[in-house]
Amino acid sequence: MTTSDKVALVTGAARGIGLATAKRFLAEGYKVALLDINSETLHAAHAALAQEHDIIAIECDVSQPDAVTLAFDAVGRQFGRLDALVNNAGIAIFKPILDVTYEDWSRVLAVNLTGPFLCTQAAAPMMRDGGGGAVVNITSISGLRASTLRTAYGTSKAGLAHLTKQQAAELAQYNIRVNAVAPGPVDTAMAKAVHTPEIRADYHDHMPLNRYGLEEELAEAIFFLCSERASYITGQILCVDGGFDSTGIGLP
Ligand code: NAD
Repeated sequence: MTTSDKVALVTGAARGIGLATAKRFLAEGYKVALLDINSETLHAAHAALAQEHDIIAIECDVSQPDAVTLAFDAVGRQFGRLDALVNNAGIAIFKPILDVTYEDWSRVLAVNLTGPFLCTQAAAPMMRDGGGGAVVNITSISGLRASTLRTAYGTSKAGLAHLTKQQAAELAQYNIRVNAVAPGPVDTAMAKAVHTPEIRADYHDHMPLNRYGLEEELAEAIFFLCSERASYITGQILCVDGGFDSTGIGLP
């Protein structure tokens, strides 16, 4: 099978790391389903790419089981198979631990952890029936080290790291590999919203490469893990973080 017959679905694909990842798959000839909760940015991304590429845009909240089922059914009808799933959709709420509300906690866990659970449950039968596939979950260095302000966010990403290993262990029987990419800071809209000047300074102080990552640098690692070149890699968490994790130093 050539990559032009292959299909990838990227969640949170309307902007940021997800959009860069969708473009990376398109550059390799994949057909791509862009999935996002934000209809305005989703349709803008679709309009920018649709003239030259075989893509569909699906508006969907990954935390809602019925919406996820409908979305994956639409991919099956449109493309007939699914080879790669990137569980990238995520939200960040950074607050001191005593200010985190039940609503904050529930929403972050629902999008960042339940979303990848639901999407992978929907994707796996399609991949199995097509002979196999690859899933990449987007975790975070905040799920590897505890630090202030990240009670809900860091816990959701730590949970997703474990879910990755669990899914890898159980889905291998269907020739489905599951890995995670743990980004360091990337200057997307999300980072602009939650990274205060103090947080930015902390990251720079603690990263050997001393800079934020680029969306394209994340997309490259995500694509690699989905490709045949990673055929013997499963259950791994690849830090793409300018060396942050290697220092063993946590943020304040
Ligand atoms: P972003 O906010 O720019 O993009 C996230 C996309 O996900 C948006 O288009 C948004 O509409 C979509 N989304 C949010 N909730 C959704 C839902 N319920 N259903 C479907 N789509 C939804 O963020 P980004 O920086 O590109 O982050 C992408 C992923 O990378 C996230 O999982 C994030 O936690 C992770 N990450 C980012 C950084 C960083 O510094 N930017 C660092 C570590 C991890």
